[in-house]
Amino acid sequence: MTAKTTASGIAYDVQGDRPDVERRDAALQAFVRDFAATAAIHMESCLRCGMCATACQYYVTTADPKYTPINKLKPFEQAYHRHVGPFAPVYRFLGLSANVGIDMLQEWEALLFDACSLCGRCTLACPMGIDIAELIKEARHGMYMAGLVPDRLELMDRTAKAWGSPATPADDFADIIREAGEANHVPVNVDLPKADYVITTAPAELTEHTKALTDIAKILNKMGLNWTYSSEGFEASNIGYINGDLELQEKMTRKMIDNALAIGAHTLILPECGHAYGAARWEAARWYGKEIPLRIIHMTEFLGESVASGKIKLKPIGETATFHDPCQLARRGGVTEAPRAVLKALGLELTELQDHGALGWCCGGGGGVVSNVRADPLRFKAFELKKQQVEATNTQHFVTACGQCRITLTLGAKKFKWDRKVESLLELVADNLED
Ligand code: SF4
Ligand code: SF4
Repeated sequence: MTAKTTASGIAYDVQGDRPDVERRDAALQAFVRDFAATAAIHMESCLRCGMCATACQYYVTTADPKYTPINKLKPFEQAYHRHVGPFAPVYRFLGLSANVGIDMLQEWEALLFDACSLCGRCTLACPMGIDIAELIKEARHGMYMAGLVPDRLELMDRTAKAWGSPATPADDFADIIREAGEANHVPVNVDLPKADYVITTAPAELTEHTKALTDIAKILNKMGLNWTYSSEGFEASNIGYINGDLELQEKMTRKMIDNALAIGAHTLILPECGHAYGAARWEAARWYGKEIPLRIIHMTEFLGESVASGKIKLKPIGETATFHDPCQLARRGGVTEAPRAVLKALGLELTELQDHGALGWCCGGGGGVVSNVRADPLRFKAFELKKQQVEATNTQHFVTACGQCRITLTLGAKKFKWDRKVESLLELVADNLED
């Protein structure tokens, strides 16, 4: 791994010692393979109207044109016109689309990984229905194949391959769960051979938010459900989904789902993590090619259903709150009602952020941005937008339902000496269960 700088002063990281030409070819081969029919239609449809620009927090908070969503797709688009599009021979013959060079890819790394959280706000804004966020994710695959990924993300990728999780070795998982149970005085189940519900985790729970490990245990115990954590398939965040490492993405998805099926579970509960929802709920079928005989739901959906069915009763807090919608949950997954129903059941009077639900602004740290220290200045710019909107609500609680959003927002609060605690919906429910 080496950190370098392009001729124009842009920092990039590079993995391995392959010659530049091999890297460039690896990226282009992946781009060309990824141009399935849908991607091609999207590439052909752009009107250059610029509506996606004003939807992107990195462009809006910097006014720097290089951060417009469509600019982030330039080399991908260039490869399409030169190698795949219907007029590719004409483009090549007339030199209308130059070949993508290694220098272009090196400069591009920061745009794809530091300046995009895969939040999908641009996708929602595009009048042509172009899924820019998905195209950026596909472009990341080419960059991964070229060994041009931020070092921090590549380290998480290697750790996940070696340990089964970027946060902790799978061998330590059962001990972590038992220790959390003892520390918080909650009975926990781990590695039961059979169970109806399998609970999964993300790195946030295994590092900063360990109380969440027993918060869900407390709720499941209260409901009298048959559940377990499992050392064989606990990691749901899926770094391959973020890094463009499709092989790892498939491996991690299959490990988690096949393990839950072997346990005989009918439901797999994803942690408070947005990208886990994207990877497992929406992309798992891509590897199986058939309906998966297992219900995969986000923690927030589970809480919403449990409250709605009356299976858990909550003590009313009787205060005011605002809610940050995690992008992968609200915009990409349509889960906007469940968290609001849970807040209501908690007796919290909700004042919405000016932009909320599917239109909410990203915390700025999704898509691996929060793990990529090189992106800190840009991430803090995006945070200021959220901070302004939260302050305008003048509420007592600031709640979210994604551990990574919570970490990003907490880091932002610390940076700006902003005296606000970012609370977890799960934690509020666990702390306010009726006896
Ligand atoms: S997905 Fe989000 S961060 Fe990425 S370009 Fe679109 S609006 Fe910007
Ligand atoms: S909003 Fe859609 S059509 Fe308009 S510039 Fe962006 S990608 Fe192109």
